[in-house]
Amino acid sequence: MQPNAPGERPLLLKSHQIVNAGDGHYAFTDLRKTSLGDVRTRQFRLFTPIRRQRMRLPTSLPEFAELRHLANLSDSPVTVAAELGGHWTEHNLAAITHVAACNFRCSYCYVDYAHLAGGDRFTATADAVVAEFIALRAATLRAGQRLSLLRVSGGEPLLAPGLVIDIHRVLAERDLLDAVVLKVESNLSALTYAWRQGRADPGPAERASMRRIKLHTTLHHPPDSREWPAIRDGLALALDIGFDVFPAIGATDWSAAQLESLFWELTRISPGLVRRLAVRPFHLDYPALADRRRLPRPTESEAPSVTWEGILRRHVGVGYLARPRHLVPLS
Ligand code: SF4
Repeated sequence: MQPNAPGERPLLLKSHQIVNAGDGHYAFTDLRKTSLGDVRTRQFRLFTPIRRQRMRLPTSLPEFAELRHLANLSDSPVTVAAELGGHWTEHNLAAITHVAACNFRCSYCYVDYAHLAGGDRFTATADAVVAEFIALRAATLRAGQRLSLLRVSGGEPLLAPGLVIDIHRVLAERDLLDAVVLKVESNLSALTYAWRQGRADPGPAERASMRRIKLHTTLHHPPDSREWPAIRDGLALALDIGFDVFPAIGATDWSAAQLESLFWELTRISPGLVRRLAVRPFHLDYPALADRRRLPRPTESEAPSVTWEGILRRHVGVGYLARPRHLVPLS
């Protein structure tokens, strides 16, 4: 059976139906009905990607490299600055919208389970999403802040690859690609199924333009898991479609053997991926959520990025995050 066959994955089929509302409409969570921070409208909340107090830092930059095994890598403002010009500190603000369903139910997810299953949803077109973003951008500018990052999160945005492509197309039509970068967060496991259900293959010009879409993917399951084939195939397809891919794992529960296996799996897809991988140095089931969901408290262990750095040095002769990730080419 194919890993993404709907009969095997009822959550995939259900969540795909929820998000793809039909007739160019997609389902989003009404953020006013969540406990997420800095909600501005039902469509968007604001977020500061790099925050020293929260240890979210661009540790692939030389000035933060010493913290790469302690801090959580957060580098979208760096990639935005590389696209649009200026320093990353000028791009340290994102507007986030959340699609209304996900095909996974990770115990550590910071989104309430109801909001992974279409609870409190409304529908909107890509045009409406961009119009809301433009209005929010104008409001933040009046308040003295630049808003240059539009982030589509979830839920699982690549249940609806057409949504992402349409938002990018609308940004282009509004002449905003010189001022705004589109970032998507995905688990990638739904992409092959959703892509088959959706649009025709993009032509060369559309693929080239999609290289500007930053696709940040957390690989939630290791290569020896049942979920891995769908994740691996989604990763390969994402590169083939043309997304600019930035993978990550939150790996305190990954064994050294699983990390070694991941190295070879990623290398087979694209050698650049292993040098772009963010190995989160924290337990994904961090204490606040562990308490909320009554999970066992994590035990201390060596940062998995230290193990990953050893693997990288052994096989490719470079250290972990030796270069800013957007400078590592993907083939
Ligand atoms: S894949 Fe992401 S959005 Fe979906 S349940 Fe897991 S953490 Fe939450």
